[in-house]
Amino acid sequence: AAIMSLVVLLPLALYINWRLAILLFALCVVFTVLTTLVVRKTYGMQSDVETYYGDLSARASDALGNVALVQSFVRVDAEVQGVRFVADKLLAAQMPVLSWWALVTVITRASTTITILAIFTVGIVLHQQGLTTVGEIVMFVSFATLLIQKLEQVVSFINSVFMEAPRLAEFFNVLDAVPAVRDRPDAIDTGRLSGLVEFHDVSFSYDGKRPAVEDLSFTALPGQTIALVGPTGAGKSTAIALLHRAFDPQSGFIKIDGMDVRGLTLTALRRNIGVVFQEALLFDRTIADNLRVGKPDATDEELRLAAQRAQALEFIERGERGFDTNAGERGRMLSGGERQRLSIARALLKDPPILILDEATSALDAVTEAKVNAALDEVMKGRTTFVIAHRLSTIRNATRILVFDGGRVIESGTFDELVAKGGRFAELAKAQFMVQESARASLQAR
Ligand code: ADP
Repeated sequence: AAIMSLVVLLPLALYINWRLAILLFALCVVFTVLTTLVVRKTYGMQSDVETYYGDLSARASDALGNVALVQSFVRVDAEVQGVRFVADKLLAAQMPVLSWWALVTVITRASTTITILAIFTVGIVLHQQGLTTVGEIVMFVSFATLLIQKLEQVVSFINSVFMEAPRLAEFFNVLDAVPAVRDRPDAIDTGRLSGLVEFHDVSFSYDGKRPAVEDLSFTALPGQTIALVGPTGAGKSTAIALLHRAFDPQSGFIKIDGMDVRGLTLTALRRNIGVVFQEALLFDRTIADNLRVGKPDATDEELRLAAQRAQALEFIERGERGFDTNAGERGRMLSGGERQRLSIARALLKDPPILILDEATSALDAVTEAKVNAALDEVMKGRTTFVIAHRLSTIRNATRILVFDGGRVIESGTFDELVAKGGRFAELAKAQFMVQESARASLQAR
């Protein structure tokens, strides 16, 4: 609207009295030149400011999210310093931008006043020469006031557009981001699958150079348990991530019930796969809400049953508010073992035919561990289970063990077969699991 009124007002001013109108044109030129200069000057600077804003919030939420670490290592002052350092950089970048726009305001206000004065002065001279009338001068002054108002609106509009533009650009970057993994147009929803999983020569690399998983081939029949073992960084988690399509393999393919997973919709695929993470992820909501993530329409009775099967009912009911107890920010109100059992109950509610289990490496006390183990055994029943295994009992009972090293499966077979073979697994078993077992036995004996 402001720009339109300028388009109308300026020619009209020319028509009424071109001599006085020149003053108004001069004013417009001052506004335009100044705004253009300052926009040019500050646009890049404002993008930097946005980057610093990002840094500042990342830094602050990092420090606040790890407040226990910060306190226990007496890092409060150092973290405050860190945040202040980023804040200083932000202010150092923001101040010049604000100063430039302040300068625009000062100069445009000044030129406005000068223009009005000039209209009077020039008007008087023109009047003496009989080139204008008092009525025209008065009219021009109100004209100028109107025009100035519109000009200021335009400048402040341009100002806000250019101040917000970097933020808008970031916003659109997020909107335009194309997920690496998405539904094919012809993807189908098959409903519940039976859980036959096949990997065919699957290879994947995060950086396009070093393979994280290479030529992985195996088949898991419905209901079987496949244990993935091997040193850290061997590619176990990557293999599992490919199954529920956190990424797609660069070559080879994965089939479930004979269908390529890329032919299923992501929702259908993930509805059929349950995941129990090593670090149980919980929302800052009630225990009931956290469990219903597995099945949003679960009845109270179903919640109780799942909790019971996951050995979680006892500690839930011990709490004053039972299922309405808040799980606390990132589950801090609960112990590690309790969180794990809640995440197992959640998987039980979801009741998927395929289960992914990342066994916790962290030590639990013997009683808790026995409970978590019982819960795990319960959730694995009747499902095709892939487990990144650390417990000897899981590995012993697995239908097949895949021994990973450097992204490849170097041995596979049952526990007894692999031990008899005397290869890498036999070594690993001796070094890791047997020691674990004896430590546990002595703990329990005590
Ligand atoms: P494991 O589960 O056996 O410990 P991973 O599958 O996590 O092994 O890792 C396999 C390899 O891929 C490792 O070399 C690791 O550094 C690399 N890797 C894992 N996750 C990522 C990632 N998100 N980005 C880049 N490289 C990764």
